[in-house]
Amino acid sequence: MSLQKTTEEIELIRTSALLVSKTLGMLAAEIKPGVSTLELDKKAEAFIRDHDAIPGFLGLYGFPNTLCMSPNEQVVHGIPNDTPLENGEIISIDCGVLKNGYYGDHAYTFPVGEIDLETTKLLDRTKESLYIGIEAFRSGNRVGDVGYAIQHHVEQFGYGVVRELVGHGLGKTMHEKPEMPNYGKRGKGKVFLEGMVVAIEPMINRGTHRIKQLKDGWTILTADGAPSAHFEHNVALVNGKPELLSTFQYIYEALGISSDEEIPFRTAPISL
Ligand code: MG
Ligand code: MG
Repeated sequence: MSLQKTTEEIELIRTSALLVSKTLGMLAAEIKPGVSTLELDKKAEAFIRDHDAIPGFLGLYGFPNTLCMSPNEQVVHGIPNDTPLENGEIISIDCGVLKNGYYGDHAYTFPVGEIDLETTKLLDRTKESLYIGIEAFRSGNRVGDVGYAIQHHVEQFGYGVVRELVGHGLGKTMHEKPEMPNYGKRGKGKVFLEGMVVAIEPMINRGTHRIKQLKDGWTILTADGAPSAHFEHNVALVNGKPELLSTFQYIYEALGISSDEEIPFRTAPISL
């Protein structure tokens, strides 16, 4: 499939991305101490199917669930289970859907109840790095410019950028070219082309960048046990500039947060 999508394809990906956004917004209201990640997974699966779509991760490479649920020191690809969430934890939720033949795929790290200041900073700075990376997704730039921007922002705080897992193009398949590392060198790598659609998704650890994997063959966690955050948006290159296809506004609405962070990356306001 071409890396450059037509206007029609971009709108189809936007539809899928916005369904993921709504799913995460639905979940945001449900995340509290005592709820298990498996309960949330079941709600997400029902929600997606009710919206005439298919969970994008279920069965993808053999993944067993709708959501990747990665608490605390887990980076990504955690498998939902019966363990209740506890106050002070964080939970990274990654969600994908397939609708009308096109994928949407994004992620958000939620606090469970009240979290400590250092973890709050990890979440805030990781999300900042996502938008700094998106800002660098523009014509004339290259893959390395986005990676550099993300890495440069978070390493000033002593955080580690996961190397082994990267963002990606998306469309009719979940993972397409180009790979979008969250580290890199300015001016290096593939040049961005009009109509490209990518998932930009910094995975940032409060300690070392090194990771390990559980014996379940899926769960990736930090090598030192420090917490990790993951925020992901889907972005198209339109008229040479980044156009957000996903939104966190459903999450913010559920949590009573007001934010203008997405305004620079949207040509038309979304109606929730
Ligand atoms: Mg994802
Ligand atoms: Mg992704």
